[in-house]
Amino acid sequence: MKNIASSLLATPCLSTMNNYFKVHQKQIQELSYRPRLLLHVCCGPCSLYPLYYLKKYFRITIYYTNSNIYPLEEYDHRLKELERYLQMLDAPIELIIPSYDRDYQKKLAAYAFEKEGFRRCVKCYSYRLLDAYDYARKHDFAYFSTIMSVSRHKNSNYLNYIGAKLSKADGPKFLFADFKKANGEVINKKCNQIIDLYEQDYCGCLYSK
Ligand code: SF4
Repeated sequence: MKNIASSLLATPCLSTMNNYFKVHQKQIQELSYRPRLLLHVCCGPCSLYPLYYLKKYFRITIYYTNSNIYPLEEYDHRLKELERYLQMLDAPIELIIPSYDRDYQKKLAAYAFEKEGFRRCVKCYSYRLLDAYDYARKHDFAYFSTIMSVSRHKNSNYLNYIGAKLSKADGPKFLFADFKKANGEVINKKCNQIIDLYEQDYCGCLYSK
């Protein structure tokens, strides 16, 4: 996994970047049935709009691969808040919780002092998307994706680039997305004024804390 994650660290070529919001819309328009989607979700407040929107088009299983969140108590707290939101949603959404990797912070240590949004984050996106892709492939999901593009702190070009690189013809397809272009972050904030899920004040890793 380490080598693949490192290879994904290569900077995306600017000329290959797309308007991922439009690519997403085209993927949705082309759906002829409601396929299974393995969706990486990082926390409850970020998931409010994406889950509500995507459940119309996909049979969603959430994959909570978030060993980046430090410490473990914070990881548990965010998970509980996500579960609280799922209870409010009128949809049968399964939640898969892979084991927490206590050594995850060490994987990011080489870039500990970089600003958020650069190589440490690309590595972190790569590890989690690769884990989601592997699970989706082993369990015959038609699509995999992440909701992280909803946040203005997350680089949608990198997220979509990594997802595209992982997609293979005989495996799950990556569902491209740029939820912030669909006003997702603003909608999330407004919804959470009513729902009142816990909102963290740092992204997750020890270095962002
Ligand atoms: S700031 Fe967030 S995305 Fe970046 S490395 Fe830390 S946990 Fe991962």
